[in-house]
Amino acid sequence: FRYEATVRIGGDIGDVKRRFEHLLIHIQRDKRVDILQTSLILKNPPFGFFEQPDFYNSLILLETKISPFNFLKYTLYLEKRFGRKRSFKNAPRTLDIDIIFFDFFKIKSLKLTVPHWDWQNRVSVTIPLIYLGRVKK
Ligand code: ADP
Ligand code: MG
Repeated sequence: FRYEATVRIGGDIGDVKRRFEHLLIHIQRDKRVDILQTSLILKNPPFGFFEQPDFYNSLILLETKISPFNFLKYTLYLEKRFGRKRSFKNAPRTLDIDIIFFDFFKIKSLKLTVPHWDWQNRVSVTIPLIYLGRVKK
């Protein structure tokens, strides 16, 4: 069985757009994941903690045979692989990967909430979703 996942990638340290390209190549090499579509890249102001650069954000639509919690592990691994260091909430980061939708799953647990709890309020999500043709304008 293959699941369809919508994933938001973001970052605000260093050359984020170049990192996105490397990330896509990295994911494409993984046989368990197929990238279906990628959105435009948006530049958004930070929120929560304002003393940091603007964020670049993009959405990836993909298919995977990895189950939800293992997919979360995979995204956490990718964040680490691309230099993410955890410090405080809303801190600057090289790469943030949030799972926005995971197929039609509704999960509310400590480790994973899908759909993402705040997706409707994030322009970094809603605008690319329109671009991907996933929501009505
Ligand atoms: P944020 O994305 O809110 O800035 P982090 O990237 O530091 O915060 O993520 C903190 C934790 O959020 C992760 O370790 C993960 O367990 C949890 N989490 C819950 N739901 C999701 C989701 N839909 N996508 C990604 N992480 C999630
Ligand atoms: Mg995150």
